[in-house]
Amino acid sequence: MPNFTSSAIVIRRIDFGDYDLILTFFTLKRGKISAIAKSAKKSTKRFGGILELFSVLEIVCSSKMDRDLMILQEADLKNSFSGISTDLNRTAYASYFAELVNEWTEPGARQEDLYRLLRHVLEQIDAGMISGEISSILFLIRFASIAGIRPNLLKCSICRLETDKIKEERVAFDFSRSGIICRKCAGKSISRLSLSKGTIKQLLWVESGGLEKAGKIKFTPQAIKEGLDLMETFTTYHLGKEMQSLKFLKRIRKEDGPYQY
Ligand SMILES: [Zn+2]
Repeated sequence: MPNFTSSAIVIRRIDFGDYDLILTFFTLKRGKISAIAKSAKKSTKRFGGILELFSVLEIVCSSKMDRDLMILQEADLKNSFSGISTDLNRTAYASYFAELVNEWTEPGARQEDLYRLLRHVLEQIDAGMISGEISSILFLIRFASIAGIRPNLLKCSICRLETDKIKEERVAFDFSRSGIICRKCAGKSISRLSLSKGTIKQLLWVESGGLEKAGKIKFTPQAIKEGLDLMETFTTYHLGKEMQSLKFLKRIRKEDGPYQY
């Protein structure tokens, strides 16, 4: 039974019988993997109660060649993100990102950029460095690039006129074409929403450059609203379904009132 060791983030945690847990980890070395933590429920001594959702761990797993499910042998806690688990709003955002990674990625496919992105946004939300809304915009736009579904924000998807050269302040975004549409071409487009060129500029800033810098960009309330609407609808469109965690997020956002930033 060869051992596998890696940094890992817990993205799913389900009870298995009376004693065990089945965990889905997003690991640095091998992307998404599933492992059973035997007796983790029965005895907190076994893993010291550290196998919580979103925790960053160093794990050691063993596997049998003929089975997809690994066996968790050891786990060492690196970050428990207590600032997330004690706050409903932060938990809702973290759940959305974890579910998205779980839904989108194939087991065993190494994706270091996505691992670093997920860990970065969790650290930022946990420390209260950025709001949930900004973390979501940052996560979703960079996730789209990594996943190979980057939206075209640079030119009209039909006539190819560059965004800077479009005269109107507002443009449409066409989901079936995965890009913006100028007003002249808008009649040829069906599935769309409207956004300002200012929002597009801010999204492009967040999409490029270092992660640290991207999280510090100041968004206007209008850009937060439009950016979130665009990226959440865009991601749902590509996934082909609205995830439970996003439905929950929208519900608590409504209860919280206007966007926080
Ligand atoms: Zn056009």
